[in-house]
Amino acid sequence: MNILSLSLNQLVHRLETACGKGRFHARALYREIYKNGNPDPLSAPEFAASPKLVQNLEKSIRLEPGRVKEVFQDGSLTKFITRLADGLDIESVIVPMNRYNTLCVSSQVGCRMGCAFCETGRMGLKRNLKVSEITGQLYNARHILKKQIKNIVFMGMGEPFDNFDAVMAALQIMNEQTGFDIALRHMTISTAGLLPGIQKLAAMHLPGIRLAISVNAADNHTRSRLMPVNKAWPLEKLKETLAEFPLPRKGTFLFEYILIKGVNDLAAHADLLADFIHPLPVRLNLIPCNPVPGLGHESPSDEDMNRFSQRLVEKDIFVIRRWSKGRSVSAGCGQLGQR
Ligand code: SF4
Repeated sequence: MNILSLSLNQLVHRLETACGKGRFHARALYREIYKNGNPDPLSAPEFAASPKLVQNLEKSIRLEPGRVKEVFQDGSLTKFITRLADGLDIESVIVPMNRYNTLCVSSQVGCRMGCAFCETGRMGLKRNLKVSEITGQLYNARHILKKQIKNIVFMGMGEPFDNFDAVMAALQIMNEQTGFDIALRHMTISTAGLLPGIQKLAAMHLPGIRLAISVNAADNHTRSRLMPVNKAWPLEKLKETLAEFPLPRKGTFLFEYILIKGVNDLAAHADLLADFIHPLPVRLNLIPCNPVPGLGHESPSDEDMNRFSQRLVEKDIFVIRRWSKGRSVSAGCGQLGQR
C-alpha cells in the first residue's frame, strides 16, 4: 500500500484487516511519516512490542512521493520538478510569505482547459494525478526540500475540479492533525470556473476552505476567447453558482485576474469587472500576465496596472496587486509546464 494515498481512517481499516491492529499504530505511522519525515517510521516506540507487525508492514508499506528531479531558485521562491513513476513530470512552487511558505501544488499532468495565456493548457491533458502524487508534493516540499509549509494552494498544473475525487482525498490527508496538519482555512482551491466542481465542493461543507476563481475577463466574449471553459459555463451562471456557495460568515471568494496588455486591461474592462463582482464578497488579485513564448501576450505597464487597480478601488472593490514572482524560473502564473 502506498501510504501517501490513504486517509488516517483508511489506514486504520487496512491495519485492522491485514494485521489485527488499528488506530494506535496508524497514528504512529502518520506522525512519523508526515509530521516527522522519519525515513524509518517503524522504529517508532509504538512498534517496539510488535515485531510481527513490523515484519508485515515492512513488506506492505510503500512511500512513493515521486523523485525530486530538479530544483530552481528565484530569490526565495523555489520551483521543483517531480518525476512520477511513469516518467512524466509535474511542477510545484514554494512561495515565501511573511512568516511561512505556501506550496502551490499540481493536480494534473497538463490540463485540458486550454486557457489562452497558459503554458500548462498548451500541453493538453496527459493524465490526472493520483492521490499519492498530490500529497507527495507536500511530502517532498517538507521533508526532502525541508521547507516549512503552512498554506496549500491548488493553483499548479491542471484544473483541480477536473480531478475532483483525488484532490478531495489529498486535501483530507493534508488536513489530518496527526500528520501534515494543514488547516482547511489554509487551503485554497483555484478553478477556471467548472461549475459542477464548485457545486460539489459547496455540498461538502468543508469549513473554512477557500475558493479562488480565475476570472480574467468580465464579458463573455473576451472570457471565452481567453478561457474556453466559459463557453460551457458563462459568467452569469458562474455568478449564480457563487451566490449560492456557502461562505462562512465574513468569508470571501478570491478572484484572480491576469492582466494582459490590450486584451483585458482597459478602463471598460475594469468597469465590467466591478459590475460582475458586486455584490459578491471578493478579494481581487490583479496579476500581470507572465510572458510565455509563443502565446503572444504581453504584460501591461505599471502605470496601466495602477490605473486599472485604482478604477476598481474607486468602485469599492478590495484589490490586491500581485507582483509576479518566479518569472525567471518559469514558476509564475500560467508558466508551469514550460520546457
Ligand atoms: S490556467 Fe489553469 S485551468 Fe487554465 S489551462 Fe492553465 S492550468 Fe488549466
